[in-house]
Amino acid sequence: MTRLIFLGPPGAGKGTQAQTLAGHLNIPHISTGEILRQAMKEQTHLGIKAQNYVNSGELVPDQLVQDLVQERLKQPDAENGWILDGFPRKVTQAAFLEELLERIHQSGERVVNLDAPDDVVVERLLTRGRKDDTEEVIRRRLEVYRAETEPLIDYYRDRQKLLTVNGNQSQEDVTSELQQVITS
Ligand code: AMP
Repeated sequence: MTRLIFLGPPGAGKGTQAQTLAGHLNIPHISTGEILRQAMKEQTHLGIKAQNYVNSGELVPDQLVQDLVQERLKQPDAENGWILDGFPRKVTQAAFLEELLERIHQSGERVVNLDAPDDVVVERLLTRGRKDDTEEVIRRRLEVYRAETEPLIDYYRDRQKLLTVNGNQSQEDVTSELQQVITS
């Protein structure tokens, strides 16, 4: 049973790696950012509430993402494992998730910290071309990451759930390091 949380700055390659690994393991790749972008495209209730935050690089309120993660993890396909990408992003969300996983009997999660230096991630984001990939918004997303999300590295290290992978190498090399780390 594989239950993994991907941590790391925007542009570290979380999405690509999470998707590849989830494909190999045949488990769902749950990206809160993807779910929010889809909701924004469809202009659902959730999408309308989230769009100003997403487009300016701010975090959407906990309640919105927590509700959507809770709904998603209760779907039948999540019973066989999952990869969470982009959640949790704050200590409050991590505490929520810990409690949720216990409640729905899905504990035993591990956390992959995919790290890469700022100059590398900024360069990658600038060439990716998503709507929230303008220089100003990228800078804000990195600030938010450092202030809110990076403390989760210690949070999960203290709980002995943390695995680390070097994101500053080729996509193929990250994939193989990741495979090694999660099976050892
Ligand atoms: P991502 O695709 O993970 O880079 O997420 C894109 C944007 O979606 C972020 O900049 C946030 O605005 C929002 N978002 C995604 N996940 C979360 C989360 N766990 N908490 C708050 N906001 C989130």
